Parts: sequence; structure tokens; C-alpha cells
Amino acid sequence: MRAYNFSPGPAVLPLEVLEQARAELLDWNGSGMSVMEVSHRGKAFMQIAAEAEADLRELMAVPANYKVLFLQGGATAQFAVVPLNLTRPDSVADYIDTGHWSKKAIAEARRYCTVRVAAEAGDAMRVPAQSELNLTAGAAYAHYTPNETISGVEFHYVPAVGGAPLVADMSSNILSRPIDVTRFALIYAGAQKNIGPSGLTLVIVREDLLGHARPETPSVFDYRAVAHEGSLLNTPPTFAWYIAGLVFKWLKRNGGVAAMGEANGAKARALYAAIDASSFYRNHVARDARSWMNVTFTLARSELDSEFLAQAAQAGLHNLKGHRVLGGMRASLYNAMPLEGVEALVGFMREFERRHA
Ligand code: PMP
Repeated sequence: MRAYNFSPGPAVLPLEVLEQARAELLDWNGSGMSVMEVSHRGKAFMQIAAEAEADLRELMAVPANYKVLFLQGGATAQFAVVPLNLTRPDSVADYIDTGHWSKKAIAEARRYCTVRVAAEAGDAMRVPAQSELNLTAGAAYAHYTPNETISGVEFHYVPAVGGAPLVADMSSNILSRPIDVTRFALIYAGAQKNIGPSGLTLVIVREDLLGHARPETPSVFDYRAVAHEGSLLNTPPTFAWYIAGLVFKWLKRNGGVAAMGEANGAKARALYAAIDASSFYRNHVARDARSWMNVTFTLARSELDSEFLAQAAQAGLHNLKGHRVLGGMRASLYNAMPLEGVEALVGFMREFERRHA
């Protein structure tokens, strides 16, 4: 019996992907070996790597003048790697602050360049409007966090940032719906939510941004050097890359990001509707900034939090505890969470309210 796993990440993966990985674990493609056990320079792995990239390009309609890089270090490494590649010490970079993860990105970037906060909406659990953005002429880039995983605050528009290259930390909403990649100069994402296992970090970067890394940048984090080696500059996380490739094929079989967008919108609407219909549960995010991926809510009687979590787990609904900095609950509804999981959660919430309100 599979659990309904609402974890924010590492997160639920499609059952079909896990079953295929299990079936192939001891003997990948008649080799008598696991993907984990073979060289990253061998033909077999190179094919997995190339197919994963091609499938991702197709899914996201990545134009030919963008490189797709498979890196390590998580999104947290990118907080530093972005400024190392795109700035000099006297550069200014604009950051939109919408909460926890944008603040982390800002703090790290401040070690390398001057950061100007173009809008601060952080603790208000909302997204700034386009008209609120205070942008710097000549900024090296403008950075934002399309989905704040902890508070459940999501941009439902792509900010226009004048001439500056737009950089987005899409860790928790990549592949969740169609986006126009050409609006972005650089997209990065840790894999462990909508892509695959942790240990892999995806970077999609426009070619004109390559080749400007500071001299002290580690080669494994120099976008041009990594692109030049097809992300095989050193040993990559081969198994995570393989699983990501299986997830991309699952996405293609299931209608791609357009179908994911429809399904994710329906899942989120169902849960927010249940929260709004009751005075027992409450979501604190501005309506136009409610995340489709991470739905946060509190109980009117917070002394019931631990009972709610314990009984939810007994009902097969796991990892609903909110982040420690916010408290309350959080249901992460990534691509691999089926609508039935959300329906089961809504049913449980109604029943819990009936017994405790
Ligand atoms: N950015 C966002 C939006 C995230 O959700 C996370 C992880 N939850 C991070 C950055 C940090 O990612 P990592 O642990 O891969 O460094």
C-alpha cells in the first residue's frame, strides 16, 4: 500500500517510475548491471543522459540557444553560482524578496556583489505586483523565486525586468505548468520535487551568459566549462539523472506540462476550496499568490495540530507538517501527487473538523 506523501521534498515520485527503476535495478537493458554501477562515460549512460536532456527540452520547449546543465550542490549552490557566473564585484543584481528562499538567495549573493531588493513582500505572504518592482538600470540580472515552498506563495505572472537577464529559482514549480522559457535568461531547480531524487540540480541557461565566470569560480560551477563537457566534467549523480529521465518520459506519456498544469490547477482548487469553505482551517496567502504546489493552512485550534498530523498519518496521509519556521500544515501537491490523494486529504479534513469543531 503506497502512502499519500505530501512531503515538500524530497517528494513523491510517480509509481510507474519507481516500478520501472525496480524492474531495471539489477539488470539495466540486458547489461547485467545497474545504471548505478556503470561508467558515466560509457555508451549506455551517455544515451540515458542525452535522452533525458532531449526529453526535457521537448517538455519545456527549450530553444536551441539555451544549454541544459545537470549539476550538483542543489539550489543552494546556485545561490552562489549564479552571481559567480553573472557578476563582477562591482555589479548590482536586483532580487525580489518573497520570503524564505529568496532571502537565502539574497544573503548568499551579497557575498559576491551588491544586491538591491527590488520589492519586499516576504513576510506578508503575497507577491509584489509588476508596478511595485523597483528595478536598477544596468543590473547584471534580476532574480526571483517563482514559488516559495515554505509559505506556499507563487507568482502567477512572469515579472518584466527591462533589459536585465531574468533568473528564476524554480526548485518547487518547474514542470508544473507550461512556461515560456524565452522570458528567462536562467532557470535553476533542485531536482527533489518535480524532477527526481535529490543530488541533481538542473540549470537552463541562455548561451550568451556563458563564459563570464569569475576566475576564482570552481570549474564544476563554471557554466561554460560544464556546458562544454556536456555536464560530464566530473562524475555526475548518474542514478538521479537516470530517474529524472524516467520522470521526463512519464511526463511525456501523460500529456506533458500542459496536462500537468490542468491537473495541478484542479488539485490546488479542490484543496483551497475545502479550506475556504470552513472556519476551522485557514490559508494566509493573498488570493492571487496562492501556490499550486505547496498549500499551507492552519487549524483554528492549533493545540490540535499534533492530533491532526497523527490521525492523518493513520489515514495514510503523510508529511503534512508545516515548515518549522511557520508551523501549521503544508500539503505539497507536486506532479506525482494524484487528484485522489487530494480528495482523500479533503475528506479527512472534513471528518476531523466534524469531530473537533
Ligand atoms: N529554493 C527553493 C524554492 C526550495 O524549495 C529549496 C529547497 N526546499 C531550495 C531553494 C534549496 O534547495 P536545495 O536543498 O536543493 O539546496
